[in-house]
Amino acid sequence: MNTDIQYIVDRFADIQVLRYTVEGFEKLPLKQKLFVYYLSEAALSGRDILFDQNYRYNLPLRRLLTQIWEQYDGPRDTPDFEAFTVYLKRFWFANGIHHHYSTVKMQPEFDTTYWNALLDNIGYTGDRTLWEKVLFDPEFDSKRVQLDGKDLITASANNFYSSVTQAEVEDFYAQMSDPSDQEPISYGLNTHLTKDQSGQLIEQVWSEQGWYSNSIKAINENLRKALSFAETEQQKQVIERLIDYYRTGDLKLFDEYSILWVRDTLSQVDFVNGFIETYGDPLGLKGSWESMVNFRNEAATKRTKAISDEAAWFEAHSPIDDRFRKKEVKGVSAKVITAAMLAGDCYPATPIGINLPNANWIRKEYGSKSVTIENIMEAYEIAAQGNGFNEEFYENEADRKLYEKYGFVTDVLHTDLHECLGHGSGQLLPGVSPDALKAYGATLEEARADLFALYFMADPKMLELGVLGDKDAYKAAYYHQMLVGLLTQSVRIPFGENYEEAHMRNRALIARWVYEKGEKTGACRLIRKSGKTYLQISDYEQLRKLFGKLLGEIQRIKSEGDYEAGKALVETYGVTLDPTLHREVLDRYAKLDIAPYKGFVNPVYTLEYDAQGHISDVKVDYTEGYVGQMIRYDKQYAKE
Ligand code: ZN
Repeated sequence: MNTDIQYIVDRFADIQVLRYTVEGFEKLPLKQKLFVYYLSEAALSGRDILFDQNYRYNLPLRRLLTQIWEQYDGPRDTPDFEAFTVYLKRFWFANGIHHHYSTVKMQPEFDTTYWNALLDNIGYTGDRTLWEKVLFDPEFDSKRVQLDGKDLITASANNFYSSVTQAEVEDFYAQMSDPSDQEPISYGLNTHLTKDQSGQLIEQVWSEQGWYSNSIKAINENLRKALSFAETEQQKQVIERLIDYYRTGDLKLFDEYSILWVRDTLSQVDFVNGFIETYGDPLGLKGSWESMVNFRNEAATKRTKAISDEAAWFEAHSPIDDRFRKKEVKGVSAKVITAAMLAGDCYPATPIGINLPNANWIRKEYGSKSVTIENIMEAYEIAAQGNGFNEEFYENEADRKLYEKYGFVTDVLHTDLHECLGHGSGQLLPGVSPDALKAYGATLEEARADLFALYFMADPKMLELGVLGDKDAYKAAYYHQMLVGLLTQSVRIPFGENYEEAHMRNRALIARWVYEKGEKTGACRLIRKSGKTYLQISDYEQLRKLFGKLLGEIQRIKSEGDYEAGKALVETYGVTLDPTLHREVLDRYAKLDIAPYKGFVNPVYTLEYDAQGHISDVKVDYTEGYVGQMIRYDKQYAKE
């Protein structure tokens, strides 16, 4: 953490904007810096695509809103202008008028009278009725992605389709696809579907020659510049195939690109750039445009390798019955990356991990790349430290300080142990079906991997391998695990509802099972103080034994396929919430006023030249603010 850097950049509505840093960028060789630079320019060049994909009026509205922001010469310190500013910030964050997460249209906190005054002030002479409907009519194009109703296509306001019904879309793609094809292209992934003048359905392709041609040409231009800095011949091919795909829109080429990309595991710098995730389309066909540029975090990747190389040792020392132990075991080394640029559907809200490609047959035949984005996780962690959450739920300052010191390192180590070894450990008895635990399988499997991580986190082996530097560090992880499972994860559940999601059920299961046993021996207890519930842990070694014991039992359940025992565990400990405790936690959380959604501003990269006019370096800067970045992007990367 660098104290000169402002990590929390902005806060408005339900959003907090953070800054991530690109540790290690300065140390990259110039060639790789330039590679990152041009891939980043390729990423930013697609900015307009997502706005337009999200809604057909987003781009003209964005131009109008930024024009007002820049030209309005009336008073700016009024509640109305403040409301306009908040709306504009939300609009940028959502890449359009619909909330980025709920996809419901966002309502401005200013009225039409004020809106018209703003338009008057900048001398706007265009049509005003459309904007009034787009901005203020909650019924007009009310939801970007409608997932229930009679016709999901006509009810959704996204711009993937026009003048077509759901039945027409389904029919169109059913006729196009061939069920016997073992290697089907991703039909419809990169097109707008509409009707021509005679009423025939036609696809308008997103390519250099079709829709978004200006953006795509700019992307390709930067990809071509990036080509000469590619690390290997193979990586060159990856980029060349992507350029060809963007040039033609041919989805066969996209599959070829995806295969080349997934097989390129050696390059240090890597990127995603394309029409990728299909959550923006209720039928899951159309890809929203996104890009992320990144490079491998060598230190963290060493950590996952250190653990993975010892897979046999872990298996031999796991607290499970010998019958369930694997004879031979191979760890998986996860790749940990540093994000260097976020764009399109990854910006400003961004994922903390990537697992691509999406085409099932490619995943089956060629595998997938799964990565953890550690600098984004770290930025979340830094932001969380100032939000009052830990102060509210940690009663004891020493516990909180320990968590602030070791929470992040143990958290990433937990993920490594869980992913690289936990899921792969143990074996089924002969004849036991992997699906024997049915609906409880996912929760129990997550619990098994988490318990594996928790049990070994406290092992002296961690210090020996150099992945933890303090014998007490694991206590931060133990306290946190119990606190989350017993109390704080319930802030994400509306009052009166149960835990549904497998990871949440698993955390509740572990914490409550261990608590029940640990309370009897005095290892841990929940105390009440000034009307608030807190967790106290007095015997961490005892907790470790309990984690180990539960791991042994869940391994037995899995290995034997003991459905009834698995069901009983999940139903008893992992599903319901105590209403009194839930209410209390929700109330305490609400008082903290923590933004439920977070996103990021990007760093700024600038080329530096020497006296002869040659590029001598790429500088990275972390001072640009949220509004400044948005206004700059709107101008610099306006292509459509
Ligand atoms: Zn897992």
